[in-house]
Amino acid sequence: QEFFTESNQKLKSFNDLLSQPKKIVITTHQNPDADALGSSLGLAAYLKKKGHFPTVITPTDYPDFLKWMAGEKEIINFEGDKQDLAKKLIAEAEMIFCLDFSALNRIKHMEEFIKNSSAPKVLVDHHQQPENFADFVFWNEKAAATCELIYELIEKLGDKNLIDIPLAECLYAGLVTDTGSFRFDSTTKEIHRIAGELIAVGIHTNGIHRKIFDSNSFERMKFLGFALGEKLTYLPEYNVAYMAISREELSRFGSKNGDTEGIVNYGLAIKGVVMAAIFTERDDMIRISFRSVDSFSVSEFSRTHFNGGGHKNAAGGRSHETLSKTVEKFLALLPKYQNELLNNLP
Ligand code: 5GP
Ligand code: MN
Repeated sequence: QEFFTESNQKLKSFNDLLSQPKKIVITTHQNPDADALGSSLGLAAYLKKKGHFPTVITPTDYPDFLKWMAGEKEIINFEGDKQDLAKKLIAEAEMIFCLDFSALNRIKHMEEFIKNSSAPKVLVDHHQQPENFADFVFWNEKAAATCELIYELIEKLGDKNLIDIPLAECLYAGLVTDTGSFRFDSTTKEIHRIAGELIAVGIHTNGIHRKIFDSNSFERMKFLGFALGEKLTYLPEYNVAYMAISREELSRFGSKNGDTEGIVNYGLAIKGVVMAAIFTERDDMIRISFRSVDSFSVSEFSRTHFNGGGHKNAAGGRSHETLSKTVEKFLALLPKYQNELLNNLP
């Protein structure tokens, strides 16, 4: 399986670029998840070992359950109190890596600063329909995770021996979450090979799983109970399940942004459900997460109707209408997709 759209020639000039120590900025999408953060920190650890000076800058904060990854303490949050330093690092960067996103509007307020930099840009990503802004593109929409691509990149550069336990933990975290703990269709032989090699490095996989999935607060579990008990709507006539959660409901449970992460998947746990959605009312918009199984493409659905995109079976979107108007719009679309939803192919 060839995961790179870049030719060997391009890989060579990429390698040449890295042959001298460089000041490097690594960034990823807003509200980074384990794949975004794991790939960024894994790459940073690797580049450090190669003698470079990498800094990971995230467009926003990220959930507490990711705050164990190696190098996490050195991350600069662009929305935090070190924005000036972040701007300086971007301006002075000799290379910029863009990981786990390929649409510049996904890096929020960092967009203009990254755009304005003349440093060579390297895109490593697996989202559909990448924008054309990078000088080097390591992209494949069939890759399960950006961490998979980072592993393969390190491998291609002949540096697998540099992968130690802290680095392996970062990459494994991204594999685990983006494959839904090795159960989505994206879970290939290649994913298991890489997971196996990371395990051979000596990581404690159960510990990583627990840090990510079993570190809920009591309030978060109460919130989940509320969401499943009061908010989940099931429409068997469309094979659809969804939830809409207002700002008031989020704050009632002291919910932080990361707390709704993963809840959308429960809709898919109902037998026969093909598409699940969660609508959450944020400060400036309605955030939507879509999940699906088999052939129904939520990335296409979200791209067409909700200014979003992502992967065939996992996509995000947004709406600038009210929560109820957004849900109304969603419901009004379903008849048009009824046939596809009821005859979803494996
Ligand atoms: P989530 O629902 O977890 O926020 O997003 C699901 C997947 O779609 C993730 O891989 C995420 O990175 C991607 N995604 C979320 N929003 C967008 C978007 O607006 N555009 C694109 N291209 N991908 C998105
Ligand atoms: Mn990803």
